[in-house]
Amino acid sequence: MNALEVSDLAFAYGPRQALQDLSFSVAPGRFAALLGPNGAGKSTLIALLTRLYDLQQGEIRVLGSSLARQPHLALRQLGVVFQQSTLDLDLGVEQNLHYHAALHGLGRRQAQARIDEELARQQLGERRHDKVRALNGGHRRRVEIARALLHRPRLLLLDEASAGLDPASRLALNRHVRQLCRDQGLAVLWTTHLLDEVQADDELLVLDHGRLAAQGPAQRVSAGDVSLTATFARLTAEQA
Ligand code: ADP
Repeated sequence: MNALEVSDLAFAYGPRQALQDLSFSVAPGRFAALLGPNGAGKSTLIALLTRLYDLQQGEIRVLGSSLARQPHLALRQLGVVFQQSTLDLDLGVEQNLHYHAALHGLGRRQAQARIDEELARQQLGERRHDKVRALNGGHRRRVEIARALLHRPRLLLLDEASAGLDPASRLALNRHVRQLCRDQGLAVLWTTHLLDEVQADDELLVLDHGRLAAQGPAQRVSAGDVSLTATFARLTAEQA
């Protein structure tokens, strides 16, 4: 069963068509990179996947559960890191996580055990009592990932998670999420407009003007000696 299955999705803001004919899937343990220039429709897709917007057309299934008809089952399997941080800067790392765990209905003891586990996984155990304000951008992102994983989702969505980070932290974060994928069989949908965050064995989805301009294993999309950079430029250039 796919972790994520999107079929015939379309969405319009009034007369403005933001997404059309969108179908793709992400298998468990896969890292899917959703790449597209600004305005391609990435945020709209994330808003639909997280149920911020209601579906207008098409279907989204998370681990087989329909987001529209079985939202609780579907959302239980989904962890999200939004583009804008939603951490409380004046609370400690652990306090932020406890707050989120309570929202998910986890008991205090269970929450503590999972927080310990996730902070260790994110190599943040020693920063647990620090205020979020004292952390650098890369570490804040890791706290958000720890938070997104507290309820043990099988699919993790990251919307431009590396935005605003310096190049070294950006690549470290990207590597870190790939590790989670490999170690835990977590499916990941990573949206970005930066090509260097894509690797050859990723499932690549190139979104342009609301449509998928290309999809498949990244090495196939950028076939032979044609680099991914050239392919991306070609796929998104025509209508630019
Ligand atoms: P991306 O995240 O890839 O930059 P968006 O999903 O934000 O793309 O935008 C897709 C298209 O929808 C763009 O043409 C954008 O102008 C339009 N759009 C996005 N949000 C709104 C909105 N609230 N009202 C009208 N048009 C919007």
